[in-house]
Amino acid sequence: MNKSESLYQEAITVMPGGVNSPVRAFNGVGGTPLFIESADGAYIYDVDGKAYIDYVGSWGPMILGHNNPNIASAVYKAMKHGLSFGAPTAMEVKLAELVTEIMPSIEMLRMVNSGTEATMSAIRVARGFTGRDKIIKFEGCYHGHADYLLVKAGSGALTFGNPTSPGVPADFVKHTLVCNYNDLESVKQAFEQYPDEIACIIIEPVAGNMNCVPAKPEFLQGLRTLCDQYGALLIIDEVMTGFRVALGGAQDYYNIRPDLTCLGKIIGGGMPVGAFGGRADIMQQLAPTGPIYQAGTLSGNPIAMAAGYECLTQLTQTGVYEQLNELTEMLCNGLRQVAQEYNIPMVINNVGAMFGIFFTNRPEVVTYQDVMSSDVELFKKFYHYMLDNGVYFAPSAFEAGFMSLAHTEEEINHTIDTTRNFFATL
Ligand code: PMP
Repeated sequence: MNKSESLYQEAITVMPGGVNSPVRAFNGVGGTPLFIESADGAYIYDVDGKAYIDYVGSWGPMILGHNNPNIASAVYKAMKHGLSFGAPTAMEVKLAELVTEIMPSIEMLRMVNSGTEATMSAIRVARGFTGRDKIIKFEGCYHGHADYLLVKAGSGALTFGNPTSPGVPADFVKHTLVCNYNDLESVKQAFEQYPDEIACIIIEPVAGNMNCVPAKPEFLQGLRTLCDQYGALLIIDEVMTGFRVALGGAQDYYNIRPDLTCLGKIIGGGMPVGAFGGRADIMQQLAPTGPIYQAGTLSGNPIAMAAGYECLTQLTQTGVYEQLNELTEMLCNGLRQVAQEYNIPMVINNVGAMFGIFFTNRPEVVTYQDVMSSDVELFKKFYHYMLDNGVYFAPSAFEAGFMSLAHTEEEINHTIDTTRNFFATL
């Protein structure tokens, strides 16, 4: 038994599945999760001393690569002044100003501690502001684990959702309508059925929780138009895409202005930070300026703010996104080429520094059904071959891959060569 295996045996006795967040447990691919000791640049190192090229990047935040020296020194510097005050600080203002500069649709924002809090709070604001209860989400999109967002489509074209988790009362999801991703008609039907009752649409502009499925530009524009027509708010959940598919996020990439935006992951540079923000007239409705309640003991934590500010500052330098795009293209094109050489049915979607590998016979992956056509058994084999050979992808066929600025041609070539070797075994 290696050290990861023995730690896992210990962990499962004190933590459900041995983990603090389910997908880490390797349930999607089988086997024992790696226990990580350290990480640097494009690599993570497990407790057995083995190095892996990391395409998980802590599920998104580590876009500069691991252990970025400037973030580390910003954190040390902040730490010396105290860990938490529960009172306003200058760094909160600096980070908020920087975010509003980078994403002009965000006129005002509030910091929280996770993506889950960001989406949950944004939806409360949307409901409070519009005085309406119903929300629209899309099948295959994940927006954190608030009760009324843990929903899947029921039967029938237009449906109220069904809870996807025990512990979520059916009553709590009765205001959640589930529509089909990249299918504007399903959203039109929802608005026609409930013209005055829908508070907001929430969407992942590039769905990263069904691997990687970009929205069609005309679909997103159509959502904007429908929201305007029916007086609903458009919430773009950029927890994953913000500062990743472009500096200004997917809203910049697609040139679409949401009413509210949710942020997480990169905004904290590796520390636990989320944020939600948007139109000032909406955000002013939050307590203490308005009646809609939202709060947090550790929100705007000074260490986390320092890390986030340093991370975003580095991302504003010229050439950063060109480099990220180039690296991602290099990897994806290389993988497409070896799949072709070996006649492996495979589709790769990529936008900015985000990509998804699908083993599917379909010519493209645009819908939830396309995603579900993936050959999960083949993915599992691929996954473990790559892992054995030092490449760490997300342990699930339904999670996106993330590029960082610390990846170079060397890591990318190793990934492509290892994939070629895997295909040769089939
Ligand atoms: N929204 C999106 C789009 C996400 O990808 C995630 C997490 N992967 C969340 C919300 C929830 O964020 P957190 O895990 O920080 O609560």
